[in-house]
Amino acid sequence: MLRTHLKRGTEKWLHLTNLRCRSQSAAGKQCWKCSSSDINNTFFCASCGVLRETAEKEDYFELLKLKKDFNIDTLKLVQNYRHIQSMIHPDKFAQKSEHEKAIALEWSSLVNKAYKTLSKSIERGKYLLTLNGVTISEDNTSLDKEFLLAMMDLNESVEDAETADELKNIASNVSVNIEHLNLKLVQHFKANDLDGAKEAIIRLKYMNNIERTVKEKLLHLNLK
Ligand SMILES: [Zn+2]
Repeated sequence: MLRTHLKRGTEKWLHLTNLRCRSQSAAGKQCWKCSSSDINNTFFCASCGVLRETAEKEDYFELLKLKKDFNIDTLKLVQNYRHIQSMIHPDKFAQKSEHEKAIALEWSSLVNKAYKTLSKSIERGKYLLTLNGVTISEDNTSLDKEFLLAMMDLNESVEDAETADELKNIASNVSVNIEHLNLKLVQHFKANDLDGAKEAIIRLKYMNNIERTVKEKLLHLNLK
């Protein structure tokens, strides 16, 4: 109870300070304390050592010191994330000014968001597409009819399935499909085929949804 209350308070405060920071510093190109411009891509100002302000758009790959690629070194991702979080953890700034505390909180939530995005392949793919100006719309008009019909069929067979065996059968087909789509996604990014990558991501989302429904239905059956 107290914890949620505190969390809410922090969030509200973070939101307010966020607004203030945004309006004060243009793009985080200059150190807010010493005005040095030698602060690109690092968390601290190279001349005076203070934590720099976050910029409007921080690149998640740059933040976590990873090559801008779909195929990432996942071990490096985890290691870099932990290392950076320990450097900028708000606890370390407890004795500093209110402004520095606020920036530390902002960095911390940004780095968390970056880590969450890059650690999941679909989210990483979507983010990489966004960086390249490709967005995924919700209406999915880019999908071919054949695939959509197949998805409708699949959904129907999940609905109609009455036994655990039937559901397990569907689940194993779906998981083969997901594996196949994941491979395709890797290949599309490797070949820089962004349209192909986009399509694979949309299909994967469909498949993941069906997989989730099947699992829920199986769980429900087992509980009966
Ligand atoms: Zn400075």
